[in-house]
Amino acid sequence: MKLYAMSCGYLRCRKVAFVPTADKSIVMDSPMPVYLITHPGGNVLFDTGPNPVVFDDAAKHWGGLAKAFQPLGDKESGVAAQLEKIGVETGDIKYVVNSHLHFDHAGGNRFFPGATFIVQKEELVCARDPEYAERGYIQADWDDPALHYEAIEGERDLFGDGLLRIIPVVGHTLGHQVLVVRLPHQGAMILSGDGVPCEENLLQAIVTRTNMDNDLALRSIEKLRRLVVQEDALLIHGHDATQWGKIRHAPAYYD
Ligand SMILES: [Zn+2]
Repeated sequence: MKLYAMSCGYLRCRKVAFVPTADKSIVMDSPMPVYLITHPGGNVLFDTGPNPVVFDDAAKHWGGLAKAFQPLGDKESGVAAQLEKIGVETGDIKYVVNSHLHFDHAGGNRFFPGATFIVQKEELVCARDPEYAERGYIQADWDDPALHYEAIEGERDLFGDGLLRIIPVVGHTLGHQVLVVRLPHQGAMILSGDGVPCEENLLQAIVTRTNMDNDLALRSIEKLRRLVVQEDALLIHGHDATQWGKIRHAPAYYD
């Protein structure tokens, strides 16, 4: 089993968007990660990045979000093109696990009509709630009758062998989840989505500004800290430009 880490272009934004205590002048080109895990039972994708149309015209697709978040990339940056570079076709993906359904995590969902999408039931409730429209969810990205969503509640051991465990880590959204991957050589890796987008969020227990529920988000940071220790895991942050520069990227992989 291998894990490939790829970024679907970059998101230029102020660091305070993720770390409220950061200097306001710091601008960061943060990754928009997607991960492919080649489990013997089928290929699994964690998140699908942004919709690649935003690299042509972000405001048209993202609306007001494009004021704070500027996507950097081109047509080669989308999830399908990224997979193609390592010889994987979109039809080869059995499961897609979305950490949540925000614009930078579920924008490529429409490329996987043959996959089963595993999301928390609560995430679908949030994404359909008019209260949260215009606040991170782009309905056209994920709400497509051609896509098959399996709504789960709580933890799920995807193949029943402990190698890929989905764990709710809520607060950023009410249905946010992370994936714990157990690799034969590397050991455990935690793909944290926006649970702790940057290292400071984890180390200093700082919640981001854009959470639905800050109390839950703070408890989730503690949960992630315990998980890192229990699993002796390498945690990969959702949007940390510094960490992203240090980890292995496709075509290199973790195994
Ligand atoms: Zn995000």
